[in-house]
Amino acid sequence: MKLVYKRVVLKISGQRLAGDDGFGISTQAIQRTAQEIVEAREQGVEVGVVCGGGNIIRGISAEAEGLNRVAADSMGMLASVMNALALQDGLEKCGADTRVLSAVEIKQVAEPHIRRRAMRHIEKGRIVIFAAGTGNPFFTTDTGAALRAMEIGAGVLLKGTRVDGVYDSDPEKFPGAKRYDRITYREFLHRNLDVMDATAISLCQTHKLPIVVFDMTVPGNMLRVIQGETIGTAVGV
Ligand code: UDP
Repeated sequence: MKLVYKRVVLKISGQRLAGDDGFGISTQAIQRTAQEIVEAREQGVEVGVVCGGGNIIRGISAEAEGLNRVAADSMGMLASVMNALALQDGLEKCGADTRVLSAVEIKQVAEPHIRRRAMRHIEKGRIVIFAAGTGNPFFTTDTGAALRAMEIGAGVLLKGTRVDGVYDSDPEKFPGAKRYDRITYREFLHRNLDVMDATAISLCQTHKLPIVVFDMTVPGNMLRVIQGETIGTAVGV
């Protein structure tokens, strides 16, 4: 099977791991996601995964409710560790060899993120789950994903969502919304599209890291993207 990318980083939002009520962790959603990742790994692609935490807490929303922003962001990063552990369990149930590397030290439950260690795991064929985003408040896991993708030399950043690409407005609110097959980083930023945060996009722009935004709820889509099928929206130069 021909693969367009040898190594990828997949960003999964917390929402993808939540149940139908949009909150918490659904073991069903975990298992479905894990299966998709393992299917791609079995075709030979090297995979790093970054988990979001928005299904448990988002710093910006918690701040709006009165919580100190730094405390809220720290909680968000820990939420992403919880998702990472759940996904690790799901991946292991599918027979995959995985490691969780956390940007916030939490040694009893995950290895610390050390780039060289991540590289060794990847070279050994393990699926590496990067937890706790960048390890800093005021960032998001999208930016963490862009950072890790660059650190490990991934050929693409895959953003698996519940929507089939980038639209010029929210397709769930505006039925006439137009989907892009391709969009430049510049236009993405100019239009202030909120599928991915601007810090992540501009980091990818500076380092010319391509992004593909695609619907992760459709079985087989991750593999299709890796095989070069035009699915979702490609963000690039
Ligand atoms: N977060 C942070 N620094 C990071 C990554 C995440 O402070 O480098 C916090 C932030 O509060 C964020 C929350 O963790 O809202 C959950 O991450 P994110 O919103 O990216 O999750 P997603 O929307 O992808 O589920």
